[in-house]
Amino acid sequence: MFSAITTSRLALAATLANTAPGFRGGRQLPDRLDGAAGLPSALPAILPGWGFEEDPSSATLRSVRKLRAAVAGVWQDAAAEDADAALEGLNALLGAAGPVRAVLPPGSTVRSPAILAAGHEGDAPDKAASTAFALALAEVALAGELTRLRTCSGEDCSNAFVDLTRNRSKQFCDEANCANRAHVKAYRARRAAEAAAAGEEPAEQPSPKDGRAKDGKPGKKNGKPAKKKAKKK
Ligand SMILES: [Zn+2]
Repeated sequence: MFSAITTSRLALAATLANTAPGFRGGRQLPDRLDGAAGLPSALPAILPGWGFEEDPSSATLRSVRKLRAAVAGVWQDAAAEDADAALEGLNALLGAAGPVRAVLPPGSTVRSPAILAAGHEGDAPDKAASTAFALALAEVALAGELTRLRTCSGEDCSNAFVDLTRNRSKQFCDEANCANRAHVKAYRARRAAEAAAAGEEPAEQPSPKDGRAKDGKPGKKNGKPAKKKAKKK
């Protein structure tokens, strides 16, 4: 669907977007890039392979938070199926990307697909990541696949994820057990509805017509609800 490099960059972009404060998998989480909270050392773990330092400068953190907001904006607009807004956000990212260069990934041969990367080798990691995410999102847009950028349908979860399923059926993020939580909730709701329906049955039965049924006349009203209940189960 997308090139391998784009798929991996999109996954990282979603991971970055999901570090913003908010509801994630049913819990309200703080900003994971908040220097004041002593969390910036997570940066190399959140975006591995870009050369971020364990203790990045506040300028780098600011830059990464800005990138995060830009990526999350494109994502939310795409998830809301507002293509114009998504492209506007993407164009801002592309505009900031500057020149790009084609490079071969490590271990490539002459027949390997080259990838597009930030303009200069040794660019600061935030700059390189920003360009890479812009290029990945551009590939999604050029393929007409913006609706694959989704946000989780789980309760109290706004995680971004990429739907790579063939039939575009993915509804939940993978990080927070959201699909399982939704299934458990639906199951409990079904059980509660069944219990409520079963609880109503005795209340329906003691009607004045019960006496007639006892006399040997199979009362229709008494028979019908019982059949309906059996069908429901
Ligand atoms: Zn989720």
